[in-house]
This record gives sequence, C-alpha cells and structure tokens, in this order.
Amino acid sequence: MKAIYPGSFDPVTYGHLDIIERASRVVDELIIGVLVNSAKNPLFTREERVQLLGEVTKDLPNVSVKTFEGLTVSFAKENDAHLIIRGLRAVTDFETEMQIAQTNHSIEPDIDTMFFTTQLEYAFLSSTIAKEVAGYGSDVSKLVPDVVAKAFAEKFF
Ligand code: ADP
Repeated sequence: MKAIYPGSFDPVTYGHLDIIERASRVVDELIIGVLVNSAKNPLFTREERVQLLGEVTKDLPNVSVKTFEGLTVSFAKENDAHLIIRGLRAVTDFETEMQIAQTNHSIEPDIDTMFFTTQLEYAFLSSTIAKEVAGYGSDVSKLVPDVVAKAFAEKFF
C-alpha cells in the first residue's frame, strides 16, 4: 500500500514526524508531498523544506519526499497512491479535514484519507507556533528536530 502525506511543512515539526513514523509502519511506501502554494508566503523555500524533511526521515527507508502543486488527488494519482495521510490535532482540525477528505473522495472515489490522531504532547504544536517561538529566540528543542532548530537560527539571527 502506497500513501502520500501532503502538507506545507514550513518547517517540519515533531508533530509531523510523529505522524510520519507511525504512518510509515502501517503502509509499504510513504511519499511526503510538500505543497508549493504560491498564495502562501512560506518562511522556508521549497528546497529547504524538502531538505529538512529528507534529513529527519533519513532512517526511514520506505519514506521519500517530493514537492507538488495543485490538487492533492492529482499528486496521489501521479504517484499511484490510493491513500492520503493526514494528522488530527484537535476538534478544530476535524471540520476542515473532514471537508477536504470528502471533497477529495468525491473527485477521486479510488482515493481515501486516513487520519492519525496526534500524541497529546504535540496537540498544540504547529509550524506556525514553532516559527513564532523561534522568532523570539526562545528554545524550540521540544518542538522541532535539531536540524530544524539550526535552520531557524540561521533564518532569524
Ligand atoms: P497544511 O498547511 O496542509 O495544514 P501542515 O504542514 O500544517 O500542512 O500539516 C500537514 C499535516 O500534518 C496536516 O494533516 C496537519 O493536521 C498535520 N499536523 C500538523 N501538526 C501536527 C501535530 N502537531 N500533530 C499531528 N498532526 C499534525
């Protein structure tokens, strides 16, 4: 079973990594899809986001990283994947995630979405929160892997 895990990953956090590790144990192959969305103004370039994801997943042999533009279901189809992985943090994620999953399924009935619920310790964590903490020079070691913390330091200071 092949799956994609799409997102902005600007940058990857321990919350993402937890979902990646758990999903990689359930599927045969997991392709992380870094969404390149011109409407968003990311802190990290597409190359930086891919590189950071590559470094933090280097010990997971069935995980790879690619970028994509446009519809998630098109990216899934191009990669011959029938499963989309998403993470759920709180009830607030649920409504939008359900809507996205239903939209995707109606466009491509062959493609389903599987949700992993976050571990409690990462329930509050998002890339936005990590960026804010890092931007004020506070310690991000509990939020993001070391390579990401270093990348923050280079960006901000
Ligand atoms: P997007 O911009 O598509 O929401 P993100 O990079 O923010 O992309 O997130 C990608 C996926 O990872 C989403 O399914 C999101 O809910 C999930 N995710 C993000 N942070 C966490 C976390 N702390 N715990 C579990 N899942 C998370």
